[in-house]
Amino acid sequence: MALGCKRMEEKILRERARQLIADRRLPKVLPSPERINERTGVPSMKIGAGAGRTCALCASVISAEEAAGACEYRYETGLTIRFHERCEDIWDQERQGLG
Ligand SMILES: [Zn+2]
Repeated sequence: MALGCKRMEEKILRERARQLIADRRLPKVLPSPERINERTGVPSMKIGAGAGRTCALCASVISAEEAAGACEYRYETGLTIRFHERCEDIWDQERQGLG
């Protein structure tokens, strides 16, 4: 079940991002270190990844076309989250309190 659809209003996505961050279901910070996990050698941040996986914000599946701009973050805790390009922007702004 996808809560989101690609046309979900940006306003709704912003509210959702705020709520998910407040509920600690989405991180407030980027993975540290930001680029490469020194222990595993796995990049902490990857662009162009996530096709076929669920976006952590809108809960829609990231299509192969959308994956080009999609972003994947891997945390030391083992958490991996992926976003559409637009959803990543919204998460980025909301977690920094700019929304
Ligand atoms: Zn999304």
